[in-house]
Amino acid sequence: NLSDRITASLKGLRGHGRLTEADVDKTIREIRRALLDADVAVAVVREFTGRVRERALGEEVSKALNPAQQVVKIVNDELVEVLGGATGELHFAKNPPTVIMLAGLQGAGKTTLAGKLAKWMKAEGHTPLLVAADLQRPNAVTQLQVVGERAGVPVFAPEPGNGVGDPVLVAMNGVSTAQFQQHDVVIVDTAGRLGIDEEMMEQARNIRDAVTPHETLFVVDAMIGQDAARVAEAFRDGVGFTGVVLSKLDGDARGGAALSITGVTQRPILFASTGESLDEFERFHPDRMANRILDMGDVLTLIEQAEKAFDQEEAEKAAAKLASGEDFTLDDFLNQMQQLKNMGSIKKMLGMLPNMGQYREALDNFDEGEIGRIEAIIRSMTPEERNNPKIINGSRRNRIARGSGTTVQQINQLLERFKQAQQMMKTMGRGMAGGGMPGMPG
Ligand code: GDP
Ligand code: MG
Repeated sequence: NLSDRITASLKGLRGHGRLTEADVDKTIREIRRALLDADVAVAVVREFTGRVRERALGEEVSKALNPAQQVVKIVNDELVEVLGGATGELHFAKNPPTVIMLAGLQGAGKTTLAGKLAKWMKAEGHTPLLVAADLQRPNAVTQLQVVGERAGVPVFAPEPGNGVGDPVLVAMNGVSTAQFQQHDVVIVDTAGRLGIDEEMMEQARNIRDAVTPHETLFVVDAMIGQDAARVAEAFRDGVGFTGVVLSKLDGDARGGAALSITGVTQRPILFASTGESLDEFERFHPDRMANRILDMGDVLTLIEQAEKAFDQEEAEKAAAKLASGEDFTLDDFLNQMQQLKNMGSIKKMLGMLPNMGQYREALDNFDEGEIGRIEAIIRSMTPEERNNPKIINGSRRNRIARGSGTTVQQINQLLERFKQAQQMMKTMGRGMAGGGMPGMPG
């Protein structure tokens, strides 16, 4: 997939001190091929690789201490750039209600998104009203009603059994109802077709003209592949939109569609939909998506933060120790805890490490307020015990608990957690033995 291939081609730079033009071109050719194979639109690929090449051959790389790593950073920067740069925001109307219209092909995930957006907005303190202006499919209205009920948000729908309804009229009535009932947001769900057709575009245009939305969100299935650019362009020209929602990002789509759509339309992706349930929805962060494409966690941010916060010497010692495969001890653990305190949220920091999936649970149970207690416990151990916690038996656990003002259960928890950290360090140590951070060229 895209991320494997880009990561692999960047790894090819590993071990190079100075990079020649040939090195850079080889890497860029590989990235170009990976992007094209991931169905990123040709024009976007051309522009992207052109920018990366120019920067990679420029001064910032030739002067960098680690040129390969600098190229990775450039690729990352430029991916963020194509994906829209900063995290996009919804615009709210000065005079409520803010009207948000959804557009997109049938099955793109509009109705599901309507529920997700409504639920999210409600949690943010808004009072949304959902409007069922998809009268194309027989059960579309019911579907929105179900979704609205789950979201705890009211739905404006045409009276059943009134013959064929007019979606434009429903949309207009929905908005005036929202005005009247003082909802501050109206989300208008519309009909889609399996393919792009003029009739659908016209209906969407008519709804748009009738309700003059403040935001028109183009909802698109991230798995759509090479149609992404074409469909996005058709909607841009046919209806126009202010923002994009990528749905079904929970599949193995790795960002090809995201790159094509933002690259071609220059509209921000505001949200990502990542599952069928209403909570599987998040704001879209270009930097995180870029990282996902590079499959490195937020490694770059981590490196930057670590460089700032870590005592350089300590870090080098720790790295040397890890690389040598020496055992990670409770003293190291304590040391790291203290270093980490400088780095803001530990959880956030650890969350940025790559390959953290398997430690997710340990992380979720991690409470920063506990550092003080952990310090007290470790300080109550003998140096020998800190080097080799396996020798801490039941009666010692009792003593340590008393000495640190904690309980045996808390000692046990700490030792368990330490074991996990030790395991993690071992894994990382193996990665580092090859040089650099795991998954990073260097
Ligand atoms: P619409 O035709 O654009 O309104 O699309 P729907 O909201 O009806 O969604 C079509 C199908 O995709 C439904 O089965 C949804 O449950 C499913 N779906 C929508 N969003 C997501 C998502 O983010 N992930 C997954 N896996 N399925 C989704
Ligand atoms: Mg629908």
